[in-house]
Amino acid sequence: MRDPQSLDKQYLWHPFTQMQDWLENEQLVIEKGKGIYLYDTKGQRYIDGISSLWVTVHGHRHQELNRAITKQLNKVAHTTLLGLANLPSIELAEKLIKISPPGLKKVFFSDNGSTAVEIALKIAFQYQQLKGYKDKKSFLTLVNAYHGDTIGSVSVGGIDLFHKIYKPLLFKAFKAPAPYCYRCPLGLDKKNCKMSCLNCVERILKKHHSKIAAMIVEPMIQAAAGMLTMPGGYLKAIRALCSKYDVLLICDEVATGFGRTGKMFACEQEGISPDLMCVAKGVTGGYLPLAATLTSQKIFDAFLGEISEQKTFFHGHTYTGNPLACAAAIANLELFKKDKTLNKIKSKINFMEKELKTFHDLKSVGDIRQCGFMVGIELVKDKETKEEFPYEARIGHRVILEARKRGAILRPLGDVIVLMPPLSINQKQLQELLSITYESIKEIPA
Ligand SMILES: *Cc1c(COP(=O)(O)O)cnc(C)c1O
Repeated sequence: MRDPQSLDKQYLWHPFTQMQDWLENEQLVIEKGKGIYLYDTKGQRYIDGISSLWVTVHGHRHQELNRAITKQLNKVAHTTLLGLANLPSIELAEKLIKISPPGLKKVFFSDNGSTAVEIALKIAFQYQQLKGYKDKKSFLTLVNAYHGDTIGSVSVGGIDLFHKIYKPLLFKAFKAPAPYCYRCPLGLDKKNCKMSCLNCVERILKKHHSKIAAMIVEPMIQAAAGMLTMPGGYLKAIRALCSKYDVLLICDEVATGFGRTGKMFACEQEGISPDLMCVAKGVTGGYLPLAATLTSQKIFDAFLGEISEQKTFFHGHTYTGNPLACAAAIANLELFKKDKTLNKIKSKINFMEKELKTFHDLKSVGDIRQCGFMVGIELVKDKETKEEFPYEARIGHRVILEARKRGAILRPLGDVIVLMPPLSINQKQLQELLSITYESIKEIPA
């Protein structure tokens, strides 16, 4: 191939990227991966510190995942789920239900996190319509939420930087302040706030529940907002409030699912079951695009009826239940068992927690948030006042360029440095990733 970097610059438009900046700067082109490492076209090796945008679970080019996909490829690459069934989607659906929180009984497949959310929203809305709650047309979401980039999922999103320009296109949703304890929206202190932000959720539910079909949350941690962790008990309280006010609960486990928080699903951290659950990212171990929306029996049953009643869920994507992606997902789940991934991760989470404490020595580290294998290190200009760096200083971006020089690929969320390595990383590799991150943050000029 001619110089791949210049071809990229000639033909591609990259996601979430200011292309002027991209075109002006040196860019990496990745050629291959193995285990926790990525290799660029110049042969440089990097630790994949963000699991290729939060998806890789057991590592790259894993023999068993490769084998499972090849085996399916020798049968058939794709057949439709519209009016037909296929073997891998059946096997995967059963496996997903078996590992999911109790009460989730049915699986609706799609191909990315945003569609999994769109489907949950449409199902919740239609469910309420079918049940005769005609006014339940709206949704409740949290400030700082991220549920994907399609218009529906942006409508329940709450990150102004990404979402504000699209406002005229969006449907209206109720927004409650979310727990961002480092910068509490209510100006309270975590030590004695008694989770007052829950009262804001309850106030909205009390007043508007007859208009709200469902509440949607990222369980335990608002990831894209900057790894904002929820205090213990918050999620459980949200579940109770939704039940109390007859509002469905949608848990968006797209980022948190498949071991990321230390349990298979983040909902398990608080022993709750949502009415609808969205999964994507890690479902195929980071191999192929696949997503699923899981629902309770009650919701599924509401859509049953004679053809003439037109209660059908009229929604579907062309690649729904793609056999190759499902085969990868089945192999991913089998590896969790075989490698005892969820057992082994515990000591690595503790190790990371202990090591991260030393980061507080760095003058720019304002807050460190961790939920299992999801870490956000918030950098600030002034520790005392929590004053932020100016947006255009791109401090987060500068840190990740430093990390590259030292052999790790990271991607920040603004000035929050994210660590989300593959679950298969060993302690020694984790130590290396942490030292690279520490050294890179240390380079921030005074
Ligand atoms: C990434 C993400 C999505 C969107 O998934 P895509 O596959 O990028 O469409 C939705 N919700 C959460 C919580 C996510 O982290």
